[in-house]
Parts: sequence; C-alpha cells; structure tokens
Amino acid sequence: MRPEILYPLFAPVTSLAGVGPRIATLVERVAGPHLVDLLWHLPTGLIDRRYAPEVGEAQPGRIATLTVQVDRHQLSPNRRLPYKVFCSDETGTIALVFFHARPDYLKRALPEGETRLVSGKVERFGQELQITHPDHMGGLEDKELLQVVEPVHGLTQGLSLKVMGKAVRGALAQVPELDEWIDLSFLAKQKWAPWRESLIAAHAPEEETSLEPHDPNRMRLAYDELLANQLALMLVRQRSHRMAGRRVKGDGSLAKLVMGALPFELTVSQSRALEEIQGDMAEDTRMHRLLQGDVGSGKTVVALLAMLGAMESGAQGALLAPTEILARQHLATILPLAEAAGIKAALLTGREKGRKRQAILDDLASGETQIAIGTHTLFQDDVAFKDLALAVIDEQHRFGVHQRLALAAKGRGVDILVMTATPIPRTLTLTFYGDMEVSNLTEKPAGRPPVDTRTISLTRLEEVTEGIGRAIANDGKVFWVCPLIEENEVLDLAAVEERYDHLKSQFGARVGLLHGRMKPAEKDKVMEEFAEGLLSLLVATTVIEVGIDVPDATVMVIEHAERFGLAQLHQLRGRIGRGSEKSSCLLLCAANLGKTARARLEIMRESDDGFRIAEEDLRLRGAGELLGTRQSGLPQFRLADLAHHQELFGVARDDAKLILASDPELQSERGRSLRELLYLFERDAAVRLLRSG
Ligand code: ADP
Ligand code: MG
Repeated sequence: MRPEILYPLFAPVTSLAGVGPRIATLVERVAGPHLVDLLWHLPTGLIDRRYAPEVGEAQPGRIATLTVQVDRHQLSPNRRLPYKVFCSDETGTIALVFFHARPDYLKRALPEGETRLVSGKVERFGQELQITHPDHMGGLEDKELLQVVEPVHGLTQGLSLKVMGKAVRGALAQVPELDEWIDLSFLAKQKWAPWRESLIAAHAPEEETSLEPHDPNRMRLAYDELLANQLALMLVRQRSHRMAGRRVKGDGSLAKLVMGALPFELTVSQSRALEEIQGDMAEDTRMHRLLQGDVGSGKTVVALLAMLGAMESGAQGALLAPTEILARQHLATILPLAEAAGIKAALLTGREKGRKRQAILDDLASGETQIAIGTHTLFQDDVAFKDLALAVIDEQHRFGVHQRLALAAKGRGVDILVMTATPIPRTLTLTFYGDMEVSNLTEKPAGRPPVDTRTISLTRLEEVTEGIGRAIANDGKVFWVCPLIEENEVLDLAAVEERYDHLKSQFGARVGLLHGRMKPAEKDKVMEEFAEGLLSLLVATTVIEVGIDVPDATVMVIEHAERFGLAQLHQLRGRIGRGSEKSSCLLLCAANLGKTARARLEIMRESDDGFRIAEEDLRLRGAGELLGTRQSGLPQFRLADLAHHQELFGVARDDAKLILASDPELQSERGRSLRELLYLFERDAAVRLLRSG
C-alpha cells in the first residue's frame, strides 16, 4: 500500500484550484492524471520578467514589467481594429493593445486613473510603444509575484502558460519532506540538495543553465528516477530467481523433425541462443530470458524450437503477440512446421467466439492442443492449460511485468521467454531489461541482399510516384508509410487518407489503406489482400512497424522520414528485404533539413545494424532531437535523459545492486525511504514483491 505521506501527490489534477474537467484533459495530455505527474513536468524554458524599466527607457523586443498609470480606454471603431488602453508614467506613454477585446473585463482589470503593473513584450509600432495582449496585469501588490523569472512548462493547444504555471505551483505546494534515499556520501560528493528542495528549484529556473540536463537539481531528480527504475527491475529479477521452477528437458526428437522440415540451417547465434534457453529451462529455477534480435534475424524459429522442448517432455507452450495480425502471422509460420512434428497449434484472439472459442479452450485444457498462439486474450480467466511450461512473449514492451506474471500463473513453474526487435544500445540493455537474462541474435540469416536506402526531397514527390507506378506495373509490392504528426489523431488520419486518395486516383483499385483506427477484421482483410497480391500499394501509418511479414514486398516509401526515430525507421525498413529479391527504401524528407537531421538519415543509408543505429541515434539525440523513444515503446523516463545522463545509469545500477545485496527486503531505515521512492515513481508492483515492513 502506498504510504500515506504520498497520498496528496496521487490526487487527481482536478483537485487543484483552477483545474476543472476541461483543463484537466489538457493537463493530462501533457503531464498526466495526478499531481505527481506535474512534478515531473519540468520547465522547458523561462521568461525573465525582472526587467522593469521606466516607460521611456523600455527597449522594444524585450519582456518588461512596467508600473503605469491607466489614462484612457479607446474602444475599437470596428471589429478589425484593436481595443487600446493608453497608459503612462513620467517618462512616456505606452498602449496596451487587445484584439477581440471584452471591454467590460478590461475596464475592470485596468480602471482609468489607477496605477497598475503590466508585463509583456514591448514593441514599437510607428511612433507608438505597445504591448499586445499583456501576459499579466495586476495591482502593485502583485509586484513580487510578477517581477520574477517565470518558468515555461510544455503546453498543448488550449492550455495557457498561466493556467499550467498555476497548476504546477499547486502541485508543488503539496510536496512533502521525505527522508533521503540516496546514499549520503554519494549525495555529498555530488553536492546535491534534498529531494524536495531540488524539485522546487528545478521548477524555478533563474538562468538558462538551470534548464540543462546537467543542472545539479535536474541531475538529482534524474538519478532518483533511475534508481527507482533499477531497483524495481532488480526486485523482479531477485523474485523470479527465487520462484520455484521446474526442470524441462526434452529429448530433441520433435526438434529434429522440425529442423528437418526447415529449408535452412540455424545461424550460429540462433543455435547459441537456443542452447542458452534450453539450459535455463533445464534448471529448476524459472527462466526469465530476453531474446533480442534485429528484425528478420529469425527469432520465431528459435522460439518454436524452445517450445518443442516443453512438448517433448509432455507439456505445453504459449506464444503471445501484441496484435492480432502478428498472432496470425506467427500461426502461419508455425503451423506447417508444427505439423511436420505432429504437434497441434491453435490460435486464440478476440475474434474467436462462441462455440469455436469453447472448442479451442477445451483442447488447451485437455492438452490436445500443445501450442497456443494468441493476443492478450490468453490472459483471460477462462483460458486454462493442461500443463503450460513455457510462455513466449513477443515484443515485450507492449505487455507489462504483471501481465507476464499473469500468463506464468497459468501453469506450474512456467519459464518465460521474451522476444524483442527493438534495437537498443548495448549500454542500455540493463537499464531496460535488467530484470532478465539476455540472449542476442547478432547476425542475419545469409543470402539476403541489403536494402538499398536513399533519401529524397519531398519536392520530388511526383518523380517518386512515377517510379512507384513503374514498380507496381512490374508486379512489385510497395509500402507507403505516412507519419503521425500531431497529437491530434483526426488530423493524422486525414493526412493518411489524403495520401491514399491521391495515390488511388493515380493507380486505382490496387491501392489499399491501413491504419490503427480500423477494426482488426478490416486490417486483416487489407493485409491478406496485400499479401495475396490483390493490392500492390499499401498506404499505412506505423501500424506496420511491428513484424508484418510480406516477404515479396520490395519497396518502402517513408514520408517525412525526418520525423521518425531511427530505431523506428529501422523497424519499418525491416518489413522489406525479407526475401531474396533486391529491395529499396525511399526516405522522403522535408526540403531544408538541419545538419543533425541529415546526419541521422545518413546513418540509415550507411548501416543495417539495428544496434549500431540505436547507438548513433542516442549520440545524435544529444543535439536535441528527442523523437524516437516514445514511438519505440520502451519504458519512458520523465526526468532522466538517455543521451545526457549516461553516467548516472551505471551508478544507479551499481547502487541498486549494493542496496539489495545488503538489504534484499528493503527493511533498513534507508530501505524504507527507498520504498517511498518506488511508490513515488509508481513502481508499486515491485514493492509488492517485498515482504511487508
Ligand atoms: P524475426 O521474428 O526475428 O523478425 P523471423 O523469425 O520472422 O524474424 O524470421 C524472418 C525470416 O527469416 C523468416 O521467413 C524465417 O523463416 C527466416 N529464417 C529464420 N532463420 C533463418 C536462417 N537461419 N536462415 C535462413 N532463413 C531464416
Ligand atoms: Mg517475428
């Protein structure tokens, strides 16, 4: 249970003054639903309102806070001209300018004859000094509130600085003093302030340097987050090592049949990974292993061979995919191979209903079906296995730890194998996957020509379209990917549909559309038509990112490639070049790209190694291009910055290791503070693994 001292921070944002349901939706979009989310929403800029000249001295172009007397209101003569309020001091006159003004409101805010404080950007318009729509207007008593450095927090349309600032201040007012969880000598060495102090200071930057990742307050907060992350992962790992497992050791008879049916030999790293997995399964502790390998490196076959080991000893396996399309695809790969070994595999997704579903469930419960392939439906209560021994989870980041454990609960001592194709820099593997052992598939199966990748300016769209026309005429299959640009799904969708209409008008009925808002059945239908060749050109959003397999697709166009993270571009590109045919990937990008953006896309042309690409992306993201992790689906850090806080990642890992070595149940005094830290960062699931204390 969350400690009482933290309750106020987990109140909904609507509990703040000035945040009603409408504003709450906006605040939730940029920060999150609870007060604590506002704490993590650090300023991205500042406005210095300390400049307080006399009117005659005020420099145009600067933000100034002026003390003025209100002389006269001038109504707008018509709707196009602004309402003006003339103000002055002894040194000069300035006009406050309002478009679409509400006169009664302005009369109240700026009564004629009174002295007021106004703050905003001073401009010169002809002979006249002006402030258009002052940011603040108040009485002299507001001087201390107004004449300050104002933090600028990230906003969204409809949410003003003022409202956001007030909400953040409201949240900060609820921040309790907490006992220190960082090792005191480390804290002293870093010259870091206590948590609460750091947090408040980080929200009140005085200088531009306070906004940088290396500001000591930001460093401390980043470290807190990393420590919580590492501790949580290690607690899961510690726990799973202790969970009783079972020895699963096959005789290799089924694997031999499947190997015989494969048209290829395993690569060296496939064989090594399989040995590591089988080694784990043969232990009497539980396996929690990650199989990490680039798109197309052949993870599915490894997973199948591992599952066969369970079957050879009379048990069952399950394969969990994040989407229906992927589940179906896995079935298509596995079915013929399983048949070769006389193994029965079945699909269970949200679409199997009624009697059909019941029959599938019955066969799983009786053991008739040995391999279940499905989506999250496999977690449902009525799904029971006769004897589940191995659960394989594809693309883990779409499933949480507790879901993993829920699947494991469907059997006795279930071993867990997680597969991911999200390439992350090796240095960060432990940061994201510290709760598991890792096997890597480092090479690709032989005989695949590399994808020819080019960057082309969007101004040459017409040429590209003509080229695509030729490819289609030659029976080629083409993916055309449109980016998600706005937070606004409706606009995004409109952009995809517009491109679809455009291409359809050129190439007719051979063009299909695929996006995340379509019903699963519609998506499957389009995918099938594309796979079968009824469609030649598939206009899609990034829904095709994960694993869709159409081996004879040879061309991929990615519009506004500069808006994607490199890891994601790499994933997308992995959808082509899966057969023996030569493939090309066209990265269409905005005409005048910056240097960094160009360098990033250059890497895509040079390299086909997901790990190297991820490494480079991280290095370049230091230049401020932060796109990428969000879409990759990896756990996100709110305060820690992968590119700038690298050294802290290692320290947090070592620290967490030391802590758990001496205090595995977090029972010491520091241990109790660390529990609060875990709750603060919503790692509740990890705390639940501890004995209460
Ligand atoms: P991943 O899931 O890692 O993206 P898949 O398991 O889908 O990759 O494999 C991609 C393709 O490569 C499949 O068509 C698979 O049959 C094939 N494949 C797997 N292993 C090998 C290998 N050792 N040699 C040749 N082809 C392979
Ligand atoms: Mg796969």
